[in-house]
Amino acid sequence: MRSDLHMHSNYSDGALSPTALVGRVVRAGIERMSLTDHDTMAGHSEARAACTQAGILFVSGVEISALVGSDEVHLLGYGCDSETTLLTDFLEIQRKTRGRRITEFVRSLGREGVDISGSDIGTRGAGTIGRPHVAKAIVEAGAADSIQEAFEKYLKPGTATFVPREMPSAAETIDIIRKSGGIASLAHPGEYTSNENILKLIEYGLNAIEVVHPSHDERLRSYYSELAEKHGLLRTGGSDFHGWRPGDDENLGRSVIDWEFPPNIRPERTL
Ligand code: AMP
Ligand code: FE
Ligand code: FE
Ligand code: ZN
Repeated sequence: MRSDLHMHSNYSDGALSPTALVGRVVRAGIERMSLTDHDTMAGHSEARAACTQAGILFVSGVEISALVGSDEVHLLGYGCDSETTLLTDFLEIQRKTRGRRITEFVRSLGREGVDISGSDIGTRGAGTIGRPHVAKAIVEAGAADSIQEAFEKYLKPGTATFVPREMPSAAETIDIIRKSGGIASLAHPGEYTSNENILKLIEYGLNAIEVVHPSHDERLRSYYSELAEKHGLLRTGGSDFHGWRPGDDENLGRSVIDWEFPPNIRPERTL
């Protein structure tokens, strides 16, 4: 079954509503999808309803940024119980931290002469804001020509305006995903995760590795597949579609997996 298990909607930094996203997914011939917004599961009910209507399967998901030492990693949580406050409280803390960071970004940009204090840097309901929302406001204020340029000039580490974000430890994040009945997968390891850190994550209880991702070529796919097999981990994959990043349209329907995930370990529950 063609599955895309990594996608973002406008409940975080994606461009499309969950309903519009499902429409695109169906047109790309995908039969099973997971909505993995950053630090929120607020888009699930809309996405699930749209999937049911379209006759495709929905897998609950979330993407959480965390730290191994001082290195950032992104962890995907699949099939978590969204009723337990353990995870929802944890995600709420992450969203509040993000909110404070965005306020700091607005201040630091102001100090550099980029005034976006009047911009509506908002999100949907219990959605998540992040640097892409700030990037959009910078472009609208005329201080950059594109989102990419806004990142290069103002939002990347090393720029005068950069504000770091407090992040939870990967060990705690994996623990919370697992205690919520979920499966923890390491997102896009090929982008920036060292092997040493992958081994640490496995010690912390990582269940799976994202093998298929647009940033992975054939060689990296095989490499992470073998690594997963060696350590008894499951394999996940998806497009990381945001609807506005370069290559998103081309990657939709291409970064799919055709094996069963998650395995049917909890037949009593529909993920
Ligand atoms: P945040 O979680 O607020 O730190 O923002 C991270 C998000 O910004 C990622 O999920 C990407 O969607 C986006 N992003 C990060 N770096 C870049 C970049 N150089 N260009 C465009 N988007 C980026
Ligand atoms: Fe993102
Ligand atoms: Fe990510
Ligand atoms: Zn993502």
